[in-house]
Amino acid sequence: MTDAAARDVIEPVESVLDDVVEWRRHLHRHPELSFEENETAAWIAETLTGFGGDLEIERPAENSVIAHLRTGRPGPVIALRADIDALPIEEQSGVEFASENPGVMHACGHDGHTAMLLGAARLLAGAGDRLPGGELRFLFQPAEELAPGGARDLVAAGAVEGVDLVYGCHLWTPLEYGKVTAVPGPFMAASDFFTLAITGRGGHGGLPHLADDTIAISAQVITNLQHVVARRVDPLERAVLSIGTIHAGDAPNVIPGRVDMSGTVRTFDPDLRERMPVLVEDVVRGVTSAHGAEYELDYQFGYQPVVNDERATALVRDTVDPDALTDLAPIMGGDDFSAYLAEVPGCYAFIGAGDEASEATYPHHHPKFRIDERALGTGVRMHVDVALRALKEVSR
Ligand SMILES: [Zn+2]
Ligand SMILES: [Zn+2]
Repeated sequence: MTDAAARDVIEPVESVLDDVVEWRRHLHRHPELSFEENETAAWIAETLTGFGGDLEIERPAENSVIAHLRTGRPGPVIALRADIDALPIEEQSGVEFASENPGVMHACGHDGHTAMLLGAARLLAGAGDRLPGGELRFLFQPAEELAPGGARDLVAAGAVEGVDLVYGCHLWTPLEYGKVTAVPGPFMAASDFFTLAITGRGGHGGLPHLADDTIAISAQVITNLQHVVARRVDPLERAVLSIGTIHAGDAPNVIPGRVDMSGTVRTFDPDLRERMPVLVEDVVRGVTSAHGAEYELDYQFGYQPVVNDERATALVRDTVDPDALTDLAPIMGGDDFSAYLAEVPGCYAFIGAGDEASEATYPHHHPKFRIDERALGTGVRMHVDVALRALKEVSR
């Protein structure tokens, strides 16, 4: 049976799309940072309640919402997930529904993810007895953007207990509207984080021999850290090390006694992931000690890699028009969807949301980030198609 035919049990997807756009714009106007999504979560719960039907809503972890749609008939449990948080970015997109919360912006598309999953929940909840047996579980998760992430809390609260398959999707502007990616195996990198302080005797800018120049030493540390990936890691292995912040000093003629920086490390291979903090510290220790400075390194493992299950991914791919399927290479971005995949087989798909005409050409996390809102329809369709197909096909 085609997915269009399988969709006969629900109202046409088009019937919900105006609302999905409206919900997305509402969320876009009112973004909230990771772990602070109080109003967003309350609004999601209220909106779900308005759908009526058989949705049972619970709030198991802070700022999270889970809706259960239990058919009361035997079958698999299928979880669909959306993340709901925004980023500390001052919006410059120029859209009429721009953020009304200064310094905070939905610049990754999580407003769209939330709206798409709400749309799917309304359509599927409206199907009542026509749904195949089993349970659908809609997960609205806070704090995807900030390690340790919100997925971990949902898993700890039992959100994927008894779940047979977990599925999620991310809007993606580097992929043009109309295209969809769902690839089996490693797809998004493990993302780990570190803070590093270089400390020494500060002093007079004109008398460097009486001080430890933490700025000059930091410059060497940063340059040498690039050799970790370039020279210590197998060239065929995937790894990235980036320094994202550096702060030091107050005056042009003063050598500061401390430089603070932070960075991220991305890998796929578990052994390499374990080795990276050792390789980083070797460089930091060697360079600082060579120049008489000291250091404080705090290295934290963040999100595991997103590894899509073969069968779950095949199921998702089967719902997509073959002309729309595009295989992207694995990306070094991370996502805490991996926390669910560590418990349950599943698939994280990407939905093309890029389009020149709608100025959806900026990368995610950019202040001018926009999406092509037609992609919201692709997302709703994919949620309902995956849900209906999985209820039918996934055996317990
Ligand atoms: Zn993001
Ligand atoms: Zn994101």
